[in-house]
Amino acid sequence: MVAELEVLSEWIPEQMQPGTMFVLENAGCVGEKDDPYWAVLSCPGCGTLGLITRKQIAGLLAVICGSAGCAAQFFIRDSVIVIRKPF
Ligand SMILES: [Zn+2]
Repeated sequence: MVAELEVLSEWIPEQMQPGTMFVLENAGCVGEKDDPYWAVLSCPGCGTLGLITRKQIAGLLAVICGSAGCAAQFFIRDSVIVIRKPF
């Protein structure tokens, strides 16, 4: 299962629908040095917002939803969300 990734160019919280990403203004400056935080992504399953890292955006690491009630795991591949484990 795949879903198109929507990218917002401006931070508009009301528009962070499931599967929407917003690249941080200070991308690369926060978090781990090897793998800094890069964007905010709204889980395609439940819409919970979470920070994702550079490696996750590059598709090297899976994104795991932080919500307790959602087990979504997915990869981001060329602006497409590829679901690894269903919601
Ligand atoms: Zn979720």
